[in-house]
Amino acid sequence: RRGRRGAAMRRPNILMTGTPGVGKTTLCKEIASRTGLTYINVGDLAKEGELYEGFDEEYECPILDEDRVIDEMEAEMSDGGVIVDYHSCDFFPERWFNIVFVLRTENSFLYDRLESRGYKGKKLQDNIQCEIFQTIYEEAMSSYREEIVHQLSSNTPEDMERNLDQIIQWIEQWIKDNN
Ligand code: ADP
Ligand code: MG
Repeated sequence: RRGRRGAAMRRPNILMTGTPGVGKTTLCKEIASRTGLTYINVGDLAKEGELYEGFDEEYECPILDEDRVIDEMEAEMSDGGVIVDYHSCDFFPERWFNIVFVLRTENSFLYDRLESRGYKGKKLQDNIQCEIFQTIYEEAMSSYREEIVHQLSSNTPEDMERNLDQIIQWIEQWIKDNN
């Protein structure tokens, strides 16, 4: 982690976002294990620290205490070299990320994945709608500079492999260019 001049090597921060079920966690863990980037799953972090400020009965999910989540992450994000996994992206400080990926999955694939995760009824429909209306992509485009936001198809295992290769290449190039 140390460069030529003895300073800590600079490494990029990456945000991986998209509707639940698109493949964020699978892809991020693989990237982290291949590159040594630190993986942060924001949902798990919130659960461990009970960083909640309520429960959304309609959407059947806890409501994050966003300020406390940000406080919890700040030191690691400032060091760089973190890959962040979360299904929403509008509350992180814009300056944290060097690049933002929004994974996208066609309905038929997503439906099957969410169903096998046990989602049903309104929760299943809401998540499918979220993907149809490209809610998270628009959230990303309005929260970050458009030039750093990239959509990636995540329908098949071949897509997963291609995304993995491209992101690892991007990380290696960023490290060369910034150290
Ligand atoms: P997320 O973290 O976005 O909710 P996961 O990584 O948990 O998504 O993936 C949900 C399910 O879909 C897992 O069973 C995973 O293996 C599968 N999956 C994810 N991406 C793909 C893909 N590109 N092709 C096929 N299956 C995938
Ligand atoms: Mg996940």
